[in-house]
Amino acid sequence: MAYDRNNVFARILRGEIPCTKVYEDEHVLAFRDIAPQAPTHVVLIPKGEYVSAEDFSARASDAEIAGLVRAVGKVSAAEGVAATGYRLVANTGRAAHQSVPHFHLHLLGGGDLGARLVAGG
Ligand code: AMP
Repeated sequence: MAYDRNNVFARILRGEIPCTKVYEDEHVLAFRDIAPQAPTHVVLIPKGEYVSAEDFSARASDAEIAGLVRAVGKVSAAEGVAATGYRLVANTGRAAHQSVPHFHLHLLGGGDLGARLVAGG
């Protein structure tokens, strides 16, 4: 699947639409989900053009992959959920209802999440 440069997260990265940023570095942008499904719901995205977890796994550099994983720990600490626990979700493709075709991780926490799954849009 070709990368769509007009997807909403590409537009956020270009500053064309606003976001509530919680973290940024060379490889990663993290911001609050517009429709939170938990008290803490942050979306972490690589700055590179990757459609999905599959695409990111296949094509991203080691530095980009490490950067995203390290960012998870920074965001969980900054959001105060590192000790209480949180859930990471990467909806990938049709069956998972991935609604934005730019790879992203959902970080959810701030309360007991039970067995909840994070549905795509
Ligand atoms: P997914 O369904 O896994 O592709 O997740 C896409 C997520 O992006 C959903 O949780 C949406 O609420 C979220 N989302 C869509 N547009 C925006 C936006 N402009 N700012 C922040 N989050 C957004």
